[in-house]
Parts: sequence; structure tokens; C-alpha cells
Amino acid sequence: MYPSDFEYAAPTTVQEALELLRQNPEAKVLAGGHSLLPAMRIRLMSPPLLVDIGKLSELKGVRADGGVAIGALTTYHDLEASSELAQRLPVLVECASNVGDPQVRNRGTIGGSIAHADPAADMPAVVLALGAEMKVVGPNGERTISADDFFVDMLQTALEPGELLTEITVPPMPEQMGAAYEKFKHPASGYAIVGVAVMVHRGADGNVSDCRIAVTGAGPRAQRARAAEDALKSGMDVAEAAARASDGLEYIGDISASEEYRANLVRVLTKRALTRAMEQLR
Ligand SMILES: Cc1cc2nc3c(=O)[nH]c(=O)nc-3n(C[C@H](O)[C@H](O)[C@H](O)COP(=O)(O)OP(=O)(O)OC[C@H]3O[C@@H](n4cnc5c(N)ncnc54)[C@H](O)[C@@H]3O)c2cc1C
Repeated sequence: MYPSDFEYAAPTTVQEALELLRQNPEAKVLAGGHSLLPAMRIRLMSPPLLVDIGKLSELKGVRADGGVAIGALTTYHDLEASSELAQRLPVLVECASNVGDPQVRNRGTIGGSIAHADPAADMPAVVLALGAEMKVVGPNGERTISADDFFVDMLQTALEPGELLTEITVPPMPEQMGAAYEKFKHPASGYAIVGVAVMVHRGADGNVSDCRIAVTGAGPRAQRARAAEDALKSGMDVAEAAARASDGLEYIGDISASEEYRANLVRVLTKRALTRAMEQLR
């Protein structure tokens, strides 16, 4: 099917983009187009105007000073190629290199993935596990939304109409940090049937002082596996904590996998991801 007719604009400044969004409340932002255009082709979405943000070069690239700031328009390929990320947050490189295929990674952007909030997308789990913050600009100026508050429901985020996601920031990490992402891929699309991202910190006493575990694919949105986090922080070992990872999550069952199957994947992948993250602490 072809998309409905639409107008196209390619602003060259963020202000111009915001003004176009203000004047056209039904407009959609176009980044890499790898989620939006397929949705338009099946007429799941029919925006009258596409605001292509591809010329906003200030939204591209990775900056590292203490923490790490990633422009919303940074492609998966750029994340894979970033030496700053390879050094400071290799879990983001690992995640990016597991998205789709080279064509998808060359066009798709981290901001597009996060703003779209597909329940099976990879990046939402990783930014949630890393405790990232989303920098947003809109008609009422700038604001910051924590990853914990950002993913609201299936394809729904805390972004308000007319707002643009500009940057994803990850706070500075302690030396003793381990992180990993494990994904069970859909064999055709490469999307996560379930994906689990984990981050663990070790305190001066040698015990796990902080832990965040985030799951994608299991339910309508990326969600924290808090029962497993609490178990690990209370001194349980990886196997005991992972056995609790599926507790308290929301699930969806569909043609690809039942709710029970997804719950089992959550436990299995949490164990694998935690094992790898804990090895990085040694
Ligand atoms: C064949 C195929 C395989 C794929 N496999 C995977 C996979 O394995 N894992 C995975 O996670 N994803 C996968 N994807 C999805 C891909 O990663 C998308 O590129 C990504 O989800 C969306 O990013 P985009 O830049 O293409 O956004 P677009 O498609 O341009 O936009 C998506 C949505 O986000 C909004 N948006 C985009 N940027 C912003 C912004 N800065 N501020 C506010 N709103 C914004 C748009 O208005 C739109 O509603 C796949 C896609 C395809 C086509």
C-alpha cells in the first residue's frame, strides 16, 4: 500500500522545526524513517506533514565529559563506531550492533527508537538500565525526563505534542561497573522477542551496591525487573536473582511467543546478562 498524501519540510534549525510542529499539531517528526515510513505505508499513521529533522546537525554525535551525551539523531552505525562509547559504555555499542541489519543501522537513530517506543525495540531497555535522561525541547522550553518516567505504554512516551527529543544523557559511572544486553531475536525482523539489559555497580565492600535490570519485548513497554534487582542487592547470587526477574512484569502474548514463554526468556536472559556484567567487575 502507498502512504496517504503528505507535505514535507526540512528545517535547518531546531527553532524552525519547533515552529513547524506548533503550526501543524498533526505533523510527525521524521528521523531515520525506519519505523515511521513502514507505519505510513500500512496507513497505521497518516500525518499530513513530515518534519524531517535530518539537517539538524547539532542533534548528531556522541559527547563524553564525565557522563555521556548522545544526540537524538545519532544512528546505530555511529554508535557502533564511537570510540567514546566503546571505552565508556560498550553496552550501547553491543546493543546498536544487534539492531536489524546494516541498512537499518545506517538510517535508524537512537532518538527515533526511544521516541517511537516500540515494545520490542532494543534501545529503550538499555537506556532504562543505564538510568539515562532524555533532554526534550518544545513549546514551553527545555525539560529533562528520566528513562523511568519516559516509557508510558505501547508506542506511548512522556513526550508532549510539539516536543522534540534532542539528547540522551547517561550519568557518570563508577569504576566498578558492569553492563550487558542479551536479546532473543525474532528470526525474521531481528526485533527482540525479549531483550534484557543490566547494569551492576560494586561498592567498596565488594558487594553489589546498585543494580538496574530492564526488559524489552515482554510487555507493552520497556520495564524494570525490580524483584531481581532487589534480590541481587540483598546479597542473593545471580541464579537466585534471575529466577525472580519475571516477577511483577506486564506481559503480552502473540503469534511469536506466549506470555509464559516470554517470562521464561526474561529469567534466562537476565541470568546470562547478569553473569556477563558481574564478570566485568572481576
Ligand atoms: C527491517 C527492520 C528491522 C528492524 N529491526 C530492529 C531491531 O532489531 N531492533 C530495534 O530496536 N529496532 C529495529 N527496527 C526499527 C529501527 O530501529 C528504527 O529505525 C527505529 O525504531 C526508529 O528510528 P528512526 O530514526 O528510523 O525513527 P523514525 O521512523 O523516523 O521515527 C519513529 C517515530 O519517532 C518519532 N521521532 C523520531 N525522532 C524523534 C525526535 N528526535 N523527537 C521526537 N520524536 C521523534 C517520529 O515522529 C516517529 O513517530 C527495525 C526496522 C526495520 C525496518
